[in-house]
Amino acid sequence: MSYVKRVRMIVIVLTMLFAFSITGCAKKNTGGDTTYKSGTYTTEADGYGGVIKVETTLTDEKIEKITITENSETEGIGSIAIEKIPSEIVKSQSLGVDLVSGATVTSTAIIDAVSKAVEKAGGDVKALKEAPVVKEEGKDVIKETDVVVIGGGGAGLAAAVAAADNGAKVILVEKTAALGGNTVRAGGPYNAVDPERQKNVEPADETSMQKAWDLTKVEPKNDRHAELMEELKNDLTAYENGPKDSVFDSLALHKLQTYDGGDYVGKLEFIEELVEKSLPTSEWMADNGVEWTDDITTVPGGLWPRAHLPVNAAGYDFIKASEDTARKLGVEILLNSKATELITDGGAVVGIKGESEGQNMEIRAKVVIIATGGFAANVEMRKEYNPSLAEHLPTTNSPAIVGDGIKMAQEVGANLIGMEYIQSLPLGNPVDGTLNGWVGGAGVEHYYQVNKEGKRFMAEDGRRDTMTAALLAQTDTMSYVISSATNEIDINETGVNIWGDNVEKLVEDGIVFKADTIEELAEQIGIDPQVLRETHDTFNSYVVSGKDEDFGRTLFGKPLDKAPFYASPRVPTVHHTMGGIEIDLNNHVLDKDGNIIPGLLAAGEVTGGIHGANRLGGNALVDIHVFGKKAGEEAARIVNENK
Ligand code: ADP
Repeated sequence: MSYVKRVRMIVIVLTMLFAFSITGCAKKNTGGDTTYKSGTYTTEADGYGGVIKVETTLTDEKIEKITITENSETEGIGSIAIEKIPSEIVKSQSLGVDLVSGATVTSTAIIDAVSKAVEKAGGDVKALKEAPVVKEEGKDVIKETDVVVIGGGGAGLAAAVAAADNGAKVILVEKTAALGGNTVRAGGPYNAVDPERQKNVEPADETSMQKAWDLTKVEPKNDRHAELMEELKNDLTAYENGPKDSVFDSLALHKLQTYDGGDYVGKLEFIEELVEKSLPTSEWMADNGVEWTDDITTVPGGLWPRAHLPVNAAGYDFIKASEDTARKLGVEILLNSKATELITDGGAVVGIKGESEGQNMEIRAKVVIIATGGFAANVEMRKEYNPSLAEHLPTTNSPAIVGDGIKMAQEVGANLIGMEYIQSLPLGNPVDGTLNGWVGGAGVEHYYQVNKEGKRFMAEDGRRDTMTAALLAQTDTMSYVISSATNEIDINETGVNIWGDNVEKLVEDGIVFKADTIEELAEQIGIDPQVLRETHDTFNSYVVSGKDEDFGRTLFGKPLDKAPFYASPRVPTVHHTMGGIEIDLNNHVLDKDGNIIPGLLAAGEVTGGIHGANRLGGNALVDIHVFGKKAGEEAARIVNENK
């Protein structure tokens, strides 16, 4: 089954026949004194991804059934509201139900569509919006387990799967109504040196190869760095003496690009672990249900064509596969459950406290794994650790990513590392700062970027920090990504981009512009058509020659010459916090003296010290899965050792 968001018939029949048994009364609640004109009403409202069609069945005294017959909401985000809101309305006979956090547009659309049906049936919408919402009588959550994982993003789920797979009893707590965190918002690119798949990639041009050689000629920062430079030199020499029929790549190149790309601030032993485990971990992910394509691209800021994409692209594929596997392995997943504090005993961490569905939560465990993500959505923390970062910038992050885990770890003495390193991207959606809503994102080879004057202003294949700085210097810090139908993987056969957005809907909503000629496209975005034509032709000539005379870009795909052409407005947006909790190579949290805090592990964006000052695009999904898996395995090892 495909999970990609698309217009489809999903019939979710939610006949809540048991609805009133919860409250013990079948209270007539039609809104005020009215009764409904019974029948099934078809109504619709605009969701995030397009029209949501709803069938509402009303008897003369209640809303009996709500069926979503058509929607194109994002799987893992809007789909949670599709699942929850209808049943909540039926259960409470109220239109005042809570919106699903992170999916407020979808939630509101469903409520609007049902409101229209109620109105058609002669009900009192206003009164129904004020009608009380049925809350089930809650009980405090008091539990005991082997391993508790805090956070249900990519790292937390990988940790839960690995721990359970190695025999531990696992509970995962997630503070929002849905699993996924920032991971589900990712386009899905995952870097791995993969000789088999990279066989299909054209050899890199001379300038790119020169950049690889340059990495062998820097002042070594330490002995291991010197060895790696030697290793890369040997790899490059062997390649150049061979047939050169596909792109060059090697573990040493990926390591040195990551080290250099982070300004030599990242810890080399962590970089080596990340790079060496990336391909085997992708295979482990495949065993858990991730279906990889054979396409290899370069993620913006990824610097080299080694990014892998899952078939449905969005990070949702990773979350779905991990969630299914976790459930199969018996991991207990508690949603709407926020950890607020670590419980300690004699210096060791022995559990968590917090709130679950509005009730107290206390879970005792032999090992706690923190996987709560970074803090890019916490403006105060951003200001505290990096005052130079413009405060007004939006973020690609889920609103839940506010540094909870970092604060909890600090309370028990954890050391923080690299907190000032915060990454922004030049590719944010101007509407809300998110990563989605554009065409061209499957690979940096597929587009170029212009400012409001229609001129390119940077090498689009550069480092993320350099590119964002370049965009911040443009008029209104505004730009347009120009792409074309040349690259088919940017829009799949169901009409969606790699984030699962329906591209025609993006065009209809004026989020993306589309035209048959570059001149028409320029007119739509208020750029002088002649200027954009010149920029476009010049760019295409660089694609052919492989030489960017203006900015030194080296990664090119095919000329962008196939209509239609697309322009996607993009602004700077805060994306990733490289700093966080310091861990050792086995994911143990370290205190300020470098000692292990017993019982406490961490993985994913919540940790620091791996990427250094700047993270390579496509390395985060590797980090969270490689180190998430390791954390789970280490937790199980500790549990098994103490049995
Ligand atoms: P990573 O990429 O490191 O896995 P994500 O951002 O994908 O990080 O996921 C982090 C997850 O942790 C999110 O789903 C977020 O809602 C959850 N989370 C954050 N703080 C808490 C908390 N205090 N309790 C439980 N879950 C949390």
